[in-house]
Amino acid sequence: MSDTPSTHRQAALREIQQALPALAWTSEPARVARLSQDFSWFSPVLKGVLEGKVADAAVRPRDEAELREVVAACARQNVPITLRGGGTGNYGQATPLHGGLVIDMSDLKRFAWVRDGVGRAQSGIRMSEFDQHTRAAGWELRCMPSTFRIASLGGLFAGGFGGIGSINYGPLGAAGTILGVSAMTVEPEPRIIELRGAEALMQHHAWGTNGIVLEIELALAPAADWSEAIYTFTREADCMAFANQLALAPGLAKKNICVWLDPIPRYLTRLAEHLPAGQHAVAAVLAPSSLEAARALAESLGGKQTYEDNTEEATRQNRTVLEYTWNHTTLHVLKEDKGITYLQVSFTAGQHLEQVAQVRQAFGDDVMLHLEFIRSMDGQTTCTALPLLRYQSEAHLNEVIRRFREMGIRVNNPHVNVVEDGKFGGAVPPEVLALKRRFDPRGLLNPGKLKSWVQAGVEMAGAQ
Ligand SMILES: Cc1cc2nc3c(=O)[nH]c(=O)nc-3n(C[C@H](O)[C@H](O)[C@H](O)COP(=O)(O)OP(=O)(O)OC[C@H]3O[C@@H](n4cnc5c(N)ncnc54)[C@H](O)[C@@H]3O)c2cc1C
Repeated sequence: MSDTPSTHRQAALREIQQALPALAWTSEPARVARLSQDFSWFSPVLKGVLEGKVADAAVRPRDEAELREVVAACARQNVPITLRGGGTGNYGQATPLHGGLVIDMSDLKRFAWVRDGVGRAQSGIRMSEFDQHTRAAGWELRCMPSTFRIASLGGLFAGGFGGIGSINYGPLGAAGTILGVSAMTVEPEPRIIELRGAEALMQHHAWGTNGIVLEIELALAPAADWSEAIYTFTREADCMAFANQLALAPGLAKKNICVWLDPIPRYLTRLAEHLPAGQHAVAAVLAPSSLEAARALAESLGGKQTYEDNTEEATRQNRTVLEYTWNHTTLHVLKEDKGITYLQVSFTAGQHLEQVAQVRQAFGDDVMLHLEFIRSMDGQTTCTALPLLRYQSEAHLNEVIRRFREMGIRVNNPHVNVVEDGKFGGAVPPEVLALKRRFDPRGLLNPGKLKSWVQAGVEMAGAQ
């Protein structure tokens, strides 16, 4: 690919900084390096690939007008732009591969409105703040990542999947949740364009390569009070049966169902008093009215409830089980053992329990299973997993991935740094590329991350 020579880029950036002195710039190398990183260190492979990949400078616009000024200047001077929300992404999504400018979107955080089950806010707002605003009006987010305290709405939309709440509403990308976005083009005279429905979803999970998302409009769920509980089981099959029946039970209201098969609970030391040694566990967030029936279900399968709390209070006290679910399980295990890494897989609805048993049979404790129950894009109840395994080599990871795929289990490789090799699992549709052409004709947004654009030979077409 052609690239903007670094000396030209740096000189251009200096000129931009001089022309826009009132903006909140960061040029101090250690801070710029920090703003160029996310949680890609979960992957020993990406750690190597992304070593030394840093921006030349960072800026934090205070409003849309400042954003527009800096974007226009970058477009005129062919300076690459990488957007950053909370910086909690896992694949180096917000790490610039070709230097340039990191634009920290965290000050663009105005909550616009909530009405009739729909809310709209600027993309830099934290998920937790968005939820507080909508809760005051009787609504809550349909799904949010376990990083809800720090992650931004724009970062979830451009880089995430869903998470807490996906047991009811499926992934964020399921039709009907994202209603619209407004986004800015990267041109000498940037335009703001509103995209609705399916067109808006073309900017979902594109890692900020096809537009600067300014505002997002979401359908919401009725706000509810939530409780959380942990159930433990001696037998793995009983634990899985409980989680599955809880997920399917139409009369039990739930927000998250997470499974930690032994030996994972041994790593969750801060929850040790609720996780008896050698047992398998389910951490569930349920309506208070569902707790009694859930406990009875657990007991009917030989399980025991070991913990209960109010989720709002537990969150306030920094002890909610929600921050042990999804990739937080990986985080807690990594704190105990830095030699572990992870994969991301989804099981086939209807065959998921058999596939889980097959994985356990094939790998034993070499692949430790942490599972999350969700509804799939087409509404079926299934589970996904963030399996944990000791890192040996990239070749070993690829061999494990191959064996999972051989069993018919979908793997989204979290050790890659391009859009197509991750969740997309192949070339992005032509209409996504067409949208990129419309929003980023010079290929300045997060260059290097959209392989199909590079292959089409148009990456940074205007670069000198
Ligand atoms: C411990 C842990 C747990 C996690 N749990 C979950 C989970 O439950 N579910 C889940 O889906 N993910 C999860 N993640 C991944 C990540 O936290 C989420 O996807 C999160 O929503 C990302 O938001 P962010 O603001 O931190 O994004 P960032 O990391 O800042 O950015 C992510 C991507 O979005 C782009 N971007 C950011 N803002 C904009 C914008 N305004 N316009 C266009 N592009 C933009 C960036 O360039 C980047 O490519 C987890 C990660 C960790 C480390």
